[in-house]
Parts: sequence; C-alpha cells; structure tokens
Amino acid sequence: MTLPGMIAISTCRGCVVEGDSYSGFNACHYTGDDMMHIEASRSLLCDELGIGREALIIPRQTHSLNVAVVDSIPFSAERLENIDALVTTLSGVAIAINTADCVPLVFADEVNKVIGVAHSGWKGTVGRIASKTVNTMLQCGASLLHIKVAMGPCICGDCFEVGHEVVEQFEKNGFHSPQVILNQYQPRPHIDLPQACRQALLEIGIRDENITLPTDCSRCNPQKFFSARRLGINSGRTLTIAITHKA
Ligand SMILES: [Zn+2]
Repeated sequence: MTLPGMIAISTCRGCVVEGDSYSGFNACHYTGDDMMHIEASRSLLCDELGIGREALIIPRQTHSLNVAVVDSIPFSAERLENIDALVTTLSGVAIAINTADCVPLVFADEVNKVIGVAHSGWKGTVGRIASKTVNTMLQCGASLLHIKVAMGPCICGDCFEVGHEVVEQFEKNGFHSPQVILNQYQPRPHIDLPQACRQALLEIGIRDENITLPTDCSRCNPQKFFSARRLGINSGRTLTIAITHKA
C-alpha cells in the first residue's frame, strides 16, 4: 500500500535454503532464530528505510488483543511486551508486526497522519483486534472515513483447515457468513481469515472501498513467505511495516 508520504510493505524471504526454516529475511526475535541473523535483517531494513535502529518498533506478540501507542522514540522494550498491534502519529518511525500465516494489517489515515499495524491470527480475528486498532487510531485523532486498511500475505481460505472448536468460536463471536466459514470443505471446515477481518472492519464503520484484501497466500508461496503451517512455529516470520516519512 502506498499513500502520499507513507509506505507499507511486507518483507519477502529472499534467499531460501532448503531445510533452514529461518533462512531469508527474518526480524522476529522470539521464535528461535539466531540474534545475529535477526539483527542483520533489521539493520538491512533500517538502511533501506533511512532510519536509525531505535526507530524500528517490533513488539513481542502473544495473540493478545493489546494495542500500544508509540508516542516517543526510543520506545521502552517493556511497553512492547504482550502487544499485537501498534499505532503512531510520529513520522519517521517504522511500526511493524510479524506473521507466518496470520493476517498482517496496515492502517493509514493520510489526512490526520495516524498509522497502525496489527497481527490477526484466528484468536485476534475472533476478538476483533482490527477494530481495536481502529478505535485506538480514533483516540489518536484519526477519522473513520479516512482510514484505509490493507492486508498483507497470510493463509488463504483454501489452505486454512481448522477444527470444529475453532468454527464454534467464530460463530459465538458473530462470524456466521459463508464467506468466513467455508463449509464446502469436508470433513473439516476452513476459515477465511481476511474475510473475517473485513467483516469486523465493516461493522466498525470502515468503508468497503477502503479495505484491500491480501493478494498472496503465505502457505501457497513457500519461496516468498514464511508459513507456520508448512515450517512449524519454530521458523522465521514475514515482517509488515508502516512508516510515515518526515515531510
Ligand atoms: Zn493458500
């Protein structure tokens, strides 16, 4: 997603070494990769974005529904613990989240200069972390009519087979649409996570024309993206970044 004065990107793995589930670009510090490799990836990204290392903000995600507002740089590491979405009004600060099959969302109100990122796995999706991120943006001065949302590479409906207990959680929380719960797959149902995120965003008042669905599936494209379903949870992550450039 490119808007005037801001950019949002999801990283590709780049160099993939067969049998090495961390090979390629990986900036995630809590899924078992070597710190040297992580720091090298982060430095490369900061150079590319033209920012200092302290201006790249990556939380310790836990599938929570917690949103942090990045209001100063440097930003303390403690305030990034147990956080799955970030919002900021600061320019020149890259807010980022890690995913491998979960949905990465980027949010931007270009008029009021408020941006956000969120990690929405099935638990975050059921708990509507996308809406919580929007609410935090509104508290920071954004307006519903101007917020645009784009989703990065994540698992597609064809790939996301789930147990009946997961479907139950979606139904209990108001996700009944056949676009979200894909009952045509047997014997186990599938869920379309991006469609569920879209539903939550529409419910809160984001315009449909301001929502962009993912173009790539992480599991269908192992050469490009990390996929926890393919590689297991001890693997690298795709980093999705939003930054407003200094005027
Ligand atoms: Zn797929």
